[in-house]
Amino acid sequence: MIPYSKPSITNFEHQYVYDAVVNGWGEDCFHYIDKFEKMFSQKVGSLFAAATSSCTGALQLGMHALGISKGDEVILADINWIATVAPIIHCGAKPVFVDISLESWCISKNKIERAITKNTKAIIVTHLYGNIAKIKEIVKIAEANDIYVIEDAAEALGSKIDGRQVGTFGNFGVFSFHGTKMITTGEGGMFVSNDPELFEKVCVLNNHGRSTKEPRHFWPTDIGYKFKMSNIQAALGCAQLQRLDSLVKRKREILNFYKNFFKDYENIQMNIEPNKTINSSWMPTLFIQREKEIRNGLLECLKNINIDARPTFWPLTSTGLFDQKSNQNKNSYFWQARSINLPSYHDITEENQEMVCEAVKGYLDKTL
Ligand SMILES: *Cc1c(COP(=O)(O)O)cnc(C)c1O
Repeated sequence: MIPYSKPSITNFEHQYVYDAVVNGWGEDCFHYIDKFEKMFSQKVGSLFAAATSSCTGALQLGMHALGISKGDEVILADINWIATVAPIIHCGAKPVFVDISLESWCISKNKIERAITKNTKAIIVTHLYGNIAKIKEIVKIAEANDIYVIEDAAEALGSKIDGRQVGTFGNFGVFSFHGTKMITTGEGGMFVSNDPELFEKVCVLNNHGRSTKEPRHFWPTDIGYKFKMSNIQAALGCAQLQRLDSLVKRKREILNFYKNFFKDYENIQMNIEPNKTINSSWMPTLFIQREKEIRNGLLECLKNINIDARPTFWPLTSTGLFDQKSNQNKNSYFWQARSINLPSYHDITEENQEMVCEAVKGYLDKTL
């Protein structure tokens, strides 16, 4: 079986986790959490970072801290993982799904402008598969309309615009350390921001509504959550983060191998990398721009020869979980029916990548 995703865990990680398991208790129980947060904020270039048990939790904390609540609307792309919309619902607000760009596969800037109403409180910008959304332009639109920008950079650690990490352009950004992501802590996430007040609120909410400035033990000042990361997870994160540059480099090699193979194929588009940007290349994705839909047949064909490819995220309006009618966001539906994720784990061999390419090619030649 050629798996589609699997982290790279080395002796370096083993040593960090071993130390945390053996020594990270009592007065040292926050040692790796503090270290991971500090290292992470330095690495991405944000003033503040708070480690959480998941990226979804980090989104929930941030939205709660921004005061997103009943009566508010939050704009996001129809193509998103469910984790991005769930916190909007938990805050009591209404998600407004807009279409994607067929180039970046991220939220369309023009569609955002048309979706803004007097109730719009925030825009969530997801950097899908490491691809970079038009974040600078979107921040300008948001400023002009007095609304917040939230960046879901769960998949985009290592993606940069002019050397600046995505996730640091909006009011806050979040990252995921799920086992499939750019780096892993098993499960885990990170909240980043340059806003000291917002950060303070998130820290209090993240630890049972308790402030670090409160002198009394066990004294909550708010009803919070318990989404903080464990010290053992943070130890794994510290080790992975130190390897980030080489992990990104490897992901980029894997994507480039696929891109190179398919470059002469008409109507096949893979993850783009515009000038002055770096794409983390988290998830190599084939988009087959033909009228005819061949996703399901192609996935089936790959599965039969033990290649674990995946469908891309469904349009959220197609799930029936939300009030918004399905099929309005034409690009989202068109793209999703014609795109698949290819295997891209760190240790995949060139032979295996070649096998994947040949299998896809064989199927396309036969079908198109
Ligand atoms: C993985 C992912 C999340 C959720 O991350 P968790 O750490 O699993 O909570 C959110 N948004 C996007 C775009 C993701 O890919």
